[in-house]
Amino acid sequence: MRNKLVAGNWKMHGSLVANLALLTRIKEAATGFKSACAVCVPFPYLAQAQAALAGSKVAWGAQNVSEHAQGAYTGEVSAVMLAEFACRYVLVGHSERRALYGESDTVVAAKFAAALQAGLTPILCVGETVAEREAGITGAVVARQLDAVVVNSGVAALKHAVLAYEPVWAIGTGKTATAQQAQDVHALLRGRVAGGDARVAQALQILYGGSVKPGNAQELFAMPDIDGGLIGGAALVAEDFLAICHAA
Ligand code: PEP
Repeated sequence: MRNKLVAGNWKMHGSLVANLALLTRIKEAATGFKSACAVCVPFPYLAQAQAALAGSKVAWGAQNVSEHAQGAYTGEVSAVMLAEFACRYVLVGHSERRALYGESDTVVAAKFAAALQAGLTPILCVGETVAEREAGITGAVVARQLDAVVVNSGVAALKHAVLAYEPVWAIGTGKTATAQQAQDVHALLRGRVAGGDARVAQALQILYGGSVKPGNAQELFAMPDIDGGLIGGAALVAEDFLAICHAA
């Protein structure tokens, strides 16, 4: 039996004042959560998240990480730096990073490895575009994205990671995959991992992300291979995020 995890992705939103109210509310409510909960905040707010959440049931993390350990990489942030702020999680391969910043499967795999090396838990995001779904290649796309990481780090590395299936067409669009559509892809991903190591596959948390809201969370989280959610827009509204956490 896998524990559920609900992780918020704040994207490039927030302010010191607004964050404090949100973090305080989540921290207070988290004492009653059955599932694990985390927030992935913009880099400048990591210290604030650490100060607000230390000692609570809520973990925190970042939304991106450099594949490099250190050096002349202006504007980048290393995994070791994230670890200094006691981050537990870091998103890697979010579709916005892949689409807007040209992150290839190879770069994502290197970022995944860098996160693990620093003791962080990478949340590896995979998902197809609407054109890929319509072309009937969803399975091939997510398998390719997953395989790049497995080839680079080995299947056992997934013991220390979380996978997130996020259909690109469902992110921030208000269009959610049906529970069955999501379950089908989650089962496919778990099956693919099982091809390398059945025990790793059985233990692997696979989150669904893409317009999860209080109204659809329960149905999604009830599916056998959906182990929680990666939440964008709804993670910025305390009552919505908390309702989703309770649904898990
Ligand atoms: C995301 O940004 O990862 C996401 C799933 O966003 P939203 O919940 O807004 O679709």
